[in-house]
Amino acid sequence: ETKLRNRGGCTAFEAEMDARYVDRQKLKADLREAINARSLTLSYQPMFAPNGGRVECCEALARWTHPERGPVPPNVFIQLAEELGLVTEITRFVLDQACRDCMNWPGDVSVSVNLSVLDLRSSEIVVMVTDALRVTGLDAARLHLEVTESCLMDEPLKVQAILRELRGLGITIAIDDFGTGYSSLSYLDALPVDIIKIDRSFVRNIREDSRRFKLLRGTANLARALGLRIVVEGVETADQLQLINEHNCADLIQGFVFAAPMPASAIATLCKNGVPKRGAKTTSKRIA
Ligand code: C2E
Ligand code: MG
Ligand code: MG
Ligand code: MG
Repeated sequence: ETKLRNRGGCTAFEAEMDARYVDRQKLKADLREAINARSLTLSYQPMFAPNGGRVECCEALARWTHPERGPVPPNVFIQLAEELGLVTEITRFVLDQACRDCMNWPGDVSVSVNLSVLDLRSSEIVVMVTDALRVTGLDAARLHLEVTESCLMDEPLKVQAILRELRGLGITIAIDDFGTGYSSLSYLDALPVDIIKIDRSFVRNIREDSRRFKLLRGTANLARALGLRIVVEGVETADQLQLINEHNCADLIQGFVFAAPMPASAIATLCKNGVPKRGAKTTSKRIA
């Protein structure tokens, strides 16, 4: 980025790159302010049993609405926060709020929080998690933490030690976006993880692309044989859901086919009403 500032010439391209750099710096400054002002919020996306019968867990997803630009995608602001060295402040907020919100849902619903690779560089994360559980009173069995494959490859021994400590508290560990990194299931077998979340890129074209679907199915079969639970992410259509269920590829489904992210209060309502009992027939309305 610094290179972009020392431009000699002034092509339109370089001018545009400069504008983007300034823009990004401004966005970073605004993000720092938003974090300090505690103005980030959370949305929750439910994960359902494959028949849609009940909400088992809800993923906490951070939201930032910029005063002038409107909503900024989390993929964008999480990376900015990492560059600012502030992502752990976001994690602290999300952990605390997610545990609080989960306390207002029925006792069998869990909450899942995303960690950044930077959170796993220090065992401070163990203190943060312990504090969040203690302050909110949430049972550790109801908290899941999601880490990506690349987090696991970064200083693997240190990360594994931290994950073991977290798991020792009774927390469930999930590998997010599984299949997009370079880890293999044989490597995963040695890791302290409970769940794999198969990335939505394995779901997108499963009806048209049979080889892609075989990857999904094979991964699910192998993961299950290793005793891992399988979440399939990004299921959007009834057709995808049907194929996944016909081949028993998922223990939990997360995707627009059932529900988009929503406020904590809507999760409470969804858990109380609206959800047919487990084993109930999935109506076309529910999965429309
Ligand atoms: P993720 O952890 O893989 O979260 C799932 C993302 O997929 C969410 O996007 C969700 O809205 C989206 N999604 C769910 N179902 C569907 C579907 O059926 N189709 C499609 N196309 N998308 C679906 P979102 O909320 O934009 O978050 C994007 C990413 O930002 C997350 O991916 C996660 O990596 C990161 N993120 C979000 N909140 C946090 C946070 O609190 N901390 C950290 N470290 N990262 C976060
Ligand atoms: Mg996630
Ligand atoms: Mg994911
Ligand atoms: Mg993903």
